[in-house]
Amino acid sequence: MAQIIDGKRISQEIKDSLKVQVEELKEQGKSCTLVVIQIGNDPASSVYVANKKKACEYIGINSRSYELPEETTEDELLELIDELNHDSTVHGILCQLPLPKHMNEKKILNRISPQKDVDGFHPENVGHLMIGEFGFVSCTPAGVIELLKASNISIEGKNCVVIGRSNIVGKPMAMLMLRENATVTICHSKTNDLKNICKQADILIVAIGKPKYINEEYIKEGAVVIDVGIHRDANNKLCGDVDFERVEPLCSAITPVPGGVGPMTICMLMKNCIEAMKYFS
Ligand code: NAD
Repeated sequence: MAQIIDGKRISQEIKDSLKVQVEELKEQGKSCTLVVIQIGNDPASSVYVANKKKACEYIGINSRSYELPEETTEDELLELIDELNHDSTVHGILCQLPLPKHMNEKKILNRISPQKDVDGFHPENVGHLMIGEFGFVSCTPAGVIELLKASNISIEGKNCVVIGRSNIVGKPMAMLMLRENATVTICHSKTNDLKNICKQADILIVAIGKPKYINEEYIKEGAVVIDVGIHRDANNKLCGDVDFERVEPLCSAITPVPGGVGPMTICMLMKNCIEAMKYFS
């Protein structure tokens, strides 16, 4: 039977250690503040924002939120970001995606100071990751590395296949695995012979965005499988990009959905906020 990588437990342990760090910082008179900006009232975004606030509260990070109307102009939002960039009491700034269609996402995200970019989306931080320097890393892939390490899964020298090349998950994931000395292959929608490439993987990381797409035909016996995907199936039950029931018997370790990669994302956001305060304030 495969080891089930327990993201819920691992994220809780990390949150508890972050809580201790925040308490210690408070004793030194330092406190940490995250600002979350939400434009419009997309219900999924509201849930994500509420979860971020809850995590801040648990750890002891101050959270400030701006819930702005859908009609907010791009200039108004840029002005708010400039103001927050210059506010020394603010350590992290996050714009909840997706933004309304009348806004240029790239322009907005690039306006956030790289030193407050706790989502790790700013090109300067992406560049730091690329050349192996300190910078904020996109939270979901950073969480995957923590999951592997906390589960004592060695990465160095392993064949790692990442499926997906988005800027938020696939690309930073591949760079992080490279930084950990894996031999990395990136696959995407135009990859030929995906099955055979996946079958070479000691560690297979799946971020395709297609429910239960990966089955046992893609898996090498004994592989570690990390499922980043999150969807609701026909019965409204959460599932991932991997068909867990069919894949699990072949693996040495696998993340479930829910309770695998998901809980790690907010946890890494909290970690980035504390680092922003420690290193840049
Ligand atoms: P995306 O849609 O931006 O990217 C999907 C990638 O998969 C693309 O690069 C595409 O080339 C590749 N792809 C699509 N079809 C393919 C195919 N048939 N074969 C090979 N590659 C294919 O998605 P994303 O933002 O990277 O997210 C991926 C998944 O992860 C989604 O299910 C998303 O909901 C989930 N996600 C989860 C978290 C979390 O916290 N757990 C965070 C972000 C994203």
